[in-house]
Amino acid sequence: MPNYKVTIGLEIHAELKTNTKMFCRCKNDPDEERPNWNICPVCTAQPGTLPVINKKAVKHVLRVGTAIGATLADFTEWDRKNYFYPDIPKGYQISQYLYPLISGGKLAGVDVTRIHLEEDTGSSRHDRGDYSLVDYNRAGVPLMELVTEPVIHDTETAMRFAKELQLLLRYLGASDANMEKGEMRVEANISISETETFGTKVEVKNINSFKAVGDAIAFEIKRHAEVLGRGEKIVQETRGWDENAGKTFSQRKKESANDYRYFPEPDLPKMRISEIPEFQNLNETMPELPWERRLRLSKEFGFQDAITEMFVTDDAIGGFFSDVALKLSGDKDLIKLASNYITSDLAALMKANNGSMGAVTPETFTVLVRMVGAGDVSSRGAKDTLAIMYREGGLARNVAEQHGLIQKSDIGALESIVKDVIAANAEAVAEYKGGKTASLQYIVGQGMKASKGSANPKVLGELFQKLIG
Ligand code: ADP
Ligand code: ZN
Ligand code: MG
Repeated sequence: MPNYKVTIGLEIHAELKTNTKMFCRCKNDPDEERPNWNICPVCTAQPGTLPVINKKAVKHVLRVGTAIGATLADFTEWDRKNYFYPDIPKGYQISQYLYPLISGGKLAGVDVTRIHLEEDTGSSRHDRGDYSLVDYNRAGVPLMELVTEPVIHDTETAMRFAKELQLLLRYLGASDANMEKGEMRVEANISISETETFGTKVEVKNINSFKAVGDAIAFEIKRHAEVLGRGEKIVQETRGWDENAGKTFSQRKKESANDYRYFPEPDLPKMRISEIPEFQNLNETMPELPWERRLRLSKEFGFQDAITEMFVTDDAIGGFFSDVALKLSGDKDLIKLASNYITSDLAALMKANNGSMGAVTPETFTVLVRMVGAGDVSSRGAKDTLAIMYREGGLARNVAEQHGLIQKSDIGALESIVKDVIAANAEAVAEYKGGKTASLQYIVGQGMKASKGSANPKVLGELFQKLIG
């Protein structure tokens, strides 16, 4: 098989988080299950109605652009994208064509072409046999579309880009960007070529998970190579991803911009971004961005990448860690200890309980970490204490005490145990005195047993050495 150069460009839509829809005052509620509940004369295209721009949606897009170092448009306008489909009440979609809000920028190493704002369509159901149903709750929901340059050359980069965008949208509060719920939709354009000239591209839609992004692209690359290998040509078209079959299938021959008869929307004002107060100085209200947090965590604490990634991508765990780190301010060793318990033990408890934080709070957890640091509880004891705190709540010290998990370091209390063990294990003691260091381990083990696991093994060992002489 010849060595093909793979080229991929992504088009990603995301429903924006706003109280109301893009051009009317209907509620924007992706969780509304009653069909046609959040609709009005505007978003169902009744004659005589006029759209009004939702500034919050525009601001979301401008913030995304700011975050990725893009150019924000000064002049922007809206266009009608004309096509007929039952889920698009006006017979056109209000979108942006020549003057997108955002141009350029880079995310996860990939060049972004543009980001524009448009309205979502309604949704159709075809599961009733001989008729279809349309629900307009989603019609008019603000939707941003991001287009990348054709600069991606492998499935991993494509997946990484989509994940990073999801993360960014969540950090900015711009979208929940849940792919399974259709809040974020990825379309992948794929071509392969033996030369530097691009091959014919195919666009794949209906991808609704990150895994499917990778699977669909990999499938297309293979299919293209097979088609070319047979001496045939790739047809430029739109294909759908069939998740169950693990295949793409032909949907329609690609339409071109001409088919949409774009023209400026006469019912909306053109905008000058620089003249709108809410859109100024967006840089000043940026939260810490995912890549900034990544860098800070690895610099500040030197975590392994996997741990950093967990704190950056998992909102609950990352937030919990931040709170704990703040309380342990500056104590790097304890913070490291805390990060281990959070990413292993706490994360496992959460995973087993639908992501619930249980009854542990950053306050009680921090006390537990300090207790481990001080040797008041062993690492085994801390795991048990944490599990109990998770289920039942309570203060770390109380929980550990009630369950006999406090590690005894108090010399006085341990001395009598040590004396008893020495008396009962004369042989091992003699061996140790004779130079067999391994015997000390055995003796300490007997001491731990006698203390029912509550002794601090380090303190116990020191005490034995002292008393054996
Ligand atoms: P169209 O006019 O068909 O919509 P665009 O040039 O607007 O095509 O590009 C749409 C998407 O397809 C972009 O993400 C772009 O990066 C990608 N793309 C363009 N050409 C190719 C190609 N030859 N192979 C893969 N992706 C491509
Ligand atoms: Zn409406
Ligand atoms: Mg295009």
